[in-house]
Amino acid sequence: MKILTQMEAEILGSKFFFTGKPCGNGHISKRYTSCNICVQCVNDRRERRREYLKEQSREYHRKHPERHRKLAKEWRLKNLDYVRRYMRQYMVAYRARLKTEQPI
Ligand SMILES: [Zn+2]
Repeated sequence: MKILTQMEAEILGSKFFFTGKPCGNGHISKRYTSCNICVQCVNDRRERRREYLKEQSREYHRKHPERHRKLAKEWRLKNLDYVRRYMRQYMVAYRARLKTEQPI
């Protein structure tokens, strides 16, 4: 990767620049010209945020199971075609698995 300062990248209109030096977290990765943040740091933060939101959602569903059931039912009714298609595919795979698996 070509070494470029943030200012040079700005002049060239490049979205990224690369110094070859590690960031505060030790990544040697290109950086966003707009904010000087390392791309790997942004991806890591996004992944952590995704996990956090997933956990928050699970926690919410654990605390409010009746609300979750109601919303899930509404969603299924609103997406009947998708649910039917999904169940059909699931059953095809399930039957295929039953045929190949040996009984215990
Ligand atoms: Zn980084």
